[in-house]
Amino acid sequence: MRLNSKIALVVIPLIALPLTSVGTLAYLELWKSSETQSRIQIKTQLQQLAERYQTHVRSAQFALKNLANDTLLKDYLLSEDQKERDTRLQRPLLNKLANTQAANPDFYEVRLLLPDGSEALRLVNRNLLNITKEEFNTPFFSHLSETQFESSEFVGINPDTGLSALFVSLPIYLRNSTYQPFTTQAPLRGILSITQDIDKIINPRLPEPWEGALVILSNSQGQPLTPLPHSNLIAMDPQALASLHLHPKDQWRKMVINGVVMHHLTIPLNKDLNLHTLLPEQPLLAASQRVGMIVLLTTGIALLVSTPLLLLLLRRQILLPIASLNCALSNLGENQNRLQLERSSDDEIGELVTTFNRMSIELYDSNEKIRHLAYLDSLTGLPNRVLFRRNLKRALAASDRDGKLLALLFLDLDNFKHVNDNMGHPVGDRLLQQVAHRLLDNLRADDQAGRIDHDDLNANFSRLGGDEFTVLLPHLDSPHQAGQVAERIIASLAQPICIDSHQFFVGTSIGIALWPDDGISAEQLISHADLAMYQAKNQGKNNFQYFSHTLGEQSRERARLEQRLRRATESNDFNLVYQPIYDCHRQQLLSFEALIRWNDVTLGNVAPDRFIPLAEENGLIFPISLWVLNESCRQIREWQDAGYDNLQVGINLSGAHLSQPEIITEIDWCLHRHRLSSKNIYVELTETAVIKGKQRLIENLNKLRKMGIKVALDDFGTGYSSLSYLQNLPIDILKIDSSFIQSIGEQNHSIILSSIITMAHALGLQVIAEGVEEEADLQFLRTEDCDMIQGYLFSHPLPPAQAIALLTRKRLADQAIAARLATERSRCSSDASPLP
Ligand code: C2E
Ligand code: MG
Ligand code: MG
Repeated sequence: MRLNSKIALVVIPLIALPLTSVGTLAYLELWKSSETQSRIQIKTQLQQLAERYQTHVRSAQFALKNLANDTLLKDYLLSEDQKERDTRLQRPLLNKLANTQAANPDFYEVRLLLPDGSEALRLVNRNLLNITKEEFNTPFFSHLSETQFESSEFVGINPDTGLSALFVSLPIYLRNSTYQPFTTQAPLRGILSITQDIDKIINPRLPEPWEGALVILSNSQGQPLTPLPHSNLIAMDPQALASLHLHPKDQWRKMVINGVVMHHLTIPLNKDLNLHTLLPEQPLLAASQRVGMIVLLTTGIALLVSTPLLLLLLRRQILLPIASLNCALSNLGENQNRLQLERSSDDEIGELVTTFNRMSIELYDSNEKIRHLAYLDSLTGLPNRVLFRRNLKRALAASDRDGKLLALLFLDLDNFKHVNDNMGHPVGDRLLQQVAHRLLDNLRADDQAGRIDHDDLNANFSRLGGDEFTVLLPHLDSPHQAGQVAERIIASLAQPICIDSHQFFVGTSIGIALWPDDGISAEQLISHADLAMYQAKNQGKNNFQYFSHTLGEQSRERARLEQRLRRATESNDFNLVYQPIYDCHRQQLLSFEALIRWNDVTLGNVAPDRFIPLAEENGLIFPISLWVLNESCRQIREWQDAGYDNLQVGINLSGAHLSQPEIITEIDWCLHRHRLSSKNIYVELTETAVIKGKQRLIENLNKLRKMGIKVALDDFGTGYSSLSYLQNLPIDILKIDSSFIQSIGEQNHSIILSSIITMAHALGLQVIAEGVEEEADLQFLRTEDCDMIQGYLFSHPLPPAQAIALLTRKRLADQAIAARLATERSRCSSDASPLP
C-alpha cells in the first residue's frame, strides 16, 4: 500500500472520528436542549393561557362585584313589587349591565338569576336565543347549588350555544332591614353571572412553531371542556384522555396515544380545572433532526474541507519531500554526478535531506575511487582494458552514426621486456609512465593530423596491460590519417627515454585496424589490430602495419592449426623419426636425433617447424615434449631389448620446458622407468633458447650434465653466433645449423666455419654439422676436423623400422670389419714371423 493511501487511512478516521463524535455529542446536546427549550416554551405558553384564564375570571369577578354593589341592583332584588321592578328598575339596571358588557365585550352574556334558577335579567351582545330561561337544571346551576351558591367560576356547556363557556358568578345576599334584623343571616336574593367563550380564552392551538401541540382544558373528572381541534387522536383513545388529569402536575412525561409518542404536561387552573398540553414527539424530533442534519452537514463539510486540506498539507510537507528523496535515492546509483537536494525545511525531513546530500557526496567520492580502480590503470592513470572496451563500443556506435572511419591503433613496445628483465620492474614501471606521457603529449598536438580532442583523449587512449597501449582515432576521412598518427607515435618513441641517467630506446610496433572495414565486432577489430601489430613485429619491429585480410586468413589458419594441434596433443597423435648422426672421418653411425612428426587427418603432414613454434607459444610444448621424451626412451629400450646396446638418441627440448623446475625429475623418472642410463640420451636445445634463457635454464643444464646427460647447442649460427659467450654455457656439443653448412661455398663462410670448429674444440666441445647434403661439404668438414655429421648425404630421418634395419646393417658391417681386422691381424702375424 502506498504511503498516501496509508496516510489517508490514518488521517481520515483521525479527522472523521472526533468530528463525528463532536457532531453526535453536539447533536444529542442540541436535541436535549432543543427538547428542554421546547418544553419550557410550551410550558410558558401554557402558563400564559392559565394567566389569561385567571385574568378573565378576575375581570369578570371585578365587574360582578361592581354590579353587586350597585344600589339599583340591591333595590331591584329587595323590591318585592314586581311592577316596580319591571317598570322602574329593570331598564336602568339593564343599562348598568350593558355598560359592564360594553366595557368588556368578551362578557357575551351578563345575567341576573334568581335563587330558583329563573333568569331575572339577561343581556347578550350577540344574536343568541335564550333556550334555557329556567336554569335550575343546567350544569352551571347544578354547580352553583353544589357550591352552596358561593362566588365561583365554572366551565361547562352553555345550553344556549351548545359550546363550552366560562361562567363566573357572584351570589348576592341581601337583608331587608325593614323586617330582617342584623342578627339574621342575609338570604340569597340573586346570582350575578357573566358568560364568556372559553375557546377565546383558552386557545386550543398554540402559536408557531407549536401549532402541533394540543391544549385541553378538563375538569377534575378528566372531561374535556374545550373543543379538541386535533381531537381525532385523543377522541380515538378516550382512556388516555381520561387519564390525563391523574398525572402529576407541572411535570413533563411521555405517553403513547394511539401509537403516537406524546409529551404531556398538566397545569392546574383551580381545584376543578386543569390545563393539559400534548406535544407529539415528531415535530420535536423534527426540530432536533434539523439540528442533527445541520450538525451532520457541518461535520461532513468540515471533513470534506479539512481532509483534502490536511492531505494536501501532508503531501506537501511529507509525501513530496519523501518522493523526491526516493527518486533521488533511486537515481543515486546510476547518476554519475553529485546529486544534491534543496533543503526546504528545518524538520526531520530537512535533516534527512542533509544526510542524503552528505551520503550522495560520499557515495560519489567512493564511486569515483571505485571507478578509478575499476576503469583506470593505476600506473599510468589511463583507461584500462575494461574501460577501453566500453569506449571502443561507444566509438563504434558513433562511427556507425556519423558514417566516418574509426581507426584502432594497437601498440606494443619493442624492447620493453628487455628493460624490465634487466633493470627490474620499478624502472620498467617508470618507463611505461614516461611512454604514456609522451604518447599523450603527442596525441594532444592539435596542429597535426589525427589529433584527438582534449575531451576525447582520455576516452581514446588506453593501456591494456604490460607494454600494450591502444589509441582510438575517430572521425577519420581516410585510412591514411591513421598511418600518419602511427608514424608520429613511432618517431616519438624512437627518441630515447631517460630514467636515472640511463637512456632507453624502447621503440614500438603498431597494428592498425579500421572500422567498419576490418571487423564486424569490437572483439574482432581488437584481434585484427593485434594481428597487424604482430605483423609489424615480424616485419622487423619499430613500424606500423594495417590489418589486411590476408593477415586475417593467416590468423584463421593459425587458429585452425592450433585447434588441431590441441586435439593431436590430447590423443598423442604424433610419431618419431630418427636421423642418424655419423662419425665424420670413419662414417660410423654414432647416434640418432629423434624428430617429431605429425600427420593430421585434415591437415595432412605438418612440419615441426610449423607447429613447434606454435606449441611453444600456447604452452602445448610441455605435454608434447614429455611425449617425445617418453617415446624416445621407450624406443631405445625396445632397441636395447633387441640387442642394440649403447645406443644414444638426441632429444629436442624447448627452452621454456627446460626452464621448468620439474623437468629434471621428469627426465630422471623417464630414464628410470625405461631402465636406461644417462648415456642413452642427450638433449638438444636451440641457440636462441639458450640466449633467451633465464638463470633457471642454466641451472637445469648444469644438473643434466651432472647426471651425465650431454647438452647440445642446436642450430648454432642462427642466433647471435657469438663464440665468446659459448665458454660460459654448460654445453658439450655444438650443432652447426644446416644453413651455415649449405653456404660453405660462399665468401668467407668456410673461414668462419673453420674458426667455429677450432674455437669449439678449444672450448672442449664436440661439433656436429647439420644438413650435410654434398660430398664436397663432407670433404671440407673432414679437413676442418669436424667430429660428426648429420644430413641427407647419409640418411634422411627414418622411421623406427628403417632405423633398426640401419642398425642391423651397422652391426653386420661392424662384424665384417671385425672379422677382416682379425684376418689381417693374423696374416700380419704369420707374415711377420718369417721376417728376419
Ligand atoms: P633441428 O633440431 O635442427 O633438426 C634438424 C632438421 O634438419 C630436421 O628437420 C631434419 O629433417 C632437417 N635435416 C636433416 N638433414 C638435412 C639435410 O641434409 N638438408 C635439409 N634441408 N634438412 C635436413 P625437421 O625434422 O623438419 O625439424 C625441424 C626442427 O623442428 C628441428 O630442427 C627442431 O628444432 C624441431 N623439432 C623437430 N622435432 C622436435 C621435437 O621432438 N621437439 C622439439 N622441441 N623440436 C623438434
Ligand atoms: Mg635438433
Ligand atoms: Mg638443428
